[in-house]
Amino acid sequence: MKAVLDHVGIAVKDLAAALAFYRDALGLDVEAPEEVASQHVRAHFVPVGGSKLELLEATAPESAIAKYIDKRGPGLHHITLRVADIRAALAQLKARGARLVDEEPRPGAEGALVAFVHPSAAAGVLVELKQSGDRAAIRGLPSAVSKVALGNFELVSLCDGFIGLDGGSMFGTVPKPLWEKKAPPDERNRITLAMRPLVVRGARTMLIDAGLGDKDDAKFHEIYAVDRSRSLDHTLAEAGLTREDIDLVVATHLHFDHAGGFTVRDRSGRIRPAFPRAQYVVRRGEWEDATHPHARNRASYVADNYVPLAEAGVLLLVDEDQTIMPGVKVVRTGGHTMHHQLIAIESGGRTAAFVADLMPTTAHVPDAWIMGYDLYPVDTLTAKQRFVQEAIARETLVFFEHDPNVAAGYLREVNGKRTLQPFS
Ligand SMILES: [Zn+2]
Ligand SMILES: [Zn+2]
Repeated sequence: MKAVLDHVGIAVKDLAAALAFYRDALGLDVEAPEEVASQHVRAHFVPVGGSKLELLEATAPESAIAKYIDKRGPGLHHITLRVADIRAALAQLKARGARLVDEEPRPGAEGALVAFVHPSAAAGVLVELKQSGDRAAIRGLPSAVSKVALGNFELVSLCDGFIGLDGGSMFGTVPKPLWEKKAPPDERNRITLAMRPLVVRGARTMLIDAGLGDKDDAKFHEIYAVDRSRSLDHTLAEAGLTREDIDLVVATHLHFDHAGGFTVRDRSGRIRPAFPRAQYVVRRGEWEDATHPHARNRASYVADNYVPLAEAGVLLLVDEDQTIMPGVKVVRTGGHTMHHQLIAIESGGRTAAFVADLMPTTAHVPDAWIMGYDLYPVDTLTAKQRFVQEAIARETLVFFEHDPNVAAGYLREVNGKRTLQPFS
């Protein structure tokens, strides 16, 4: 098991004296206090490198902190270790006979899960285990897929699980102190990203992108923290669909986290199309780039995800922006890759868009929040500005393929500030 020091909790009797030392004498920043009413505690966090000090102040005599200070005096109260999987950590400790305060994790701040280990098991220190917010919150979500009626279409947001990609690469020039608030990294600096293909049900049934698929080995899963405990097949079934129901598959681009699910390996080891009746629509320029990768983009392209489509004769290459089925259009954005495209959907006067890696998560809504992975970031900026302006004006429902928590939402501009209103 790997653990990272999240914070050190210090029971404080005289806050002014504590601030005089940590803030004034040491010159550290102290964040705005957080009130935990249920515990009768006020917490003042002091960032120190990758971890924090937590100055804990009792707000009522019945507070556990007040009782602790009465008994043992002020000082070190607990340390908090962040782990990737809190249930696994508890099971491991239990198997070793460690005395636990909490046998089951309970909800903590910001969607985190926490559990305490008894000081008698930890050299006299109260140890809090913590599993970070986003992934903990995702696991707690009901498994229902979200369905949206849009004019004559039904849009069904599916999920092919989660991967962890380097947080720095995901936010390009945005400094870590800014992005880590929106996307907390794990001990290897990876942030959790979902893969959310979209089904468009109209005259025909279309699937946009197909997630990672299941052809990857254990090493790949380790590197990318792959969690497909809930996959495309599960969510297709929840939506009342099977692979045979898909008439058309459309690729925004051919990176492995979008096209991996296009093919499957059968029992004989042969790789074949995953959707047996489907035609696969791919932009010709993207096809050329994916089949002739260079050093900068090679890691993103895996030939097994798409070359077998050409061999099976189910590949449909398109050269320019066009209607794929009535009401559904592919529109090139460039930026992320030269021929990356979004899918624009329109019916009954309403619009939706599947923007893929133009804005992979809701954190990428601001203009300058552009991925370091993008080959042509300034083109991303131009395409994003154009798209956002139109999406606000037309009240477009925007689907975020990689956001771990929000499948879709509406962009708004309030007092000159761009915001996102999640769809629910
Ligand atoms: Zn991509
Ligand atoms: Zn992607």
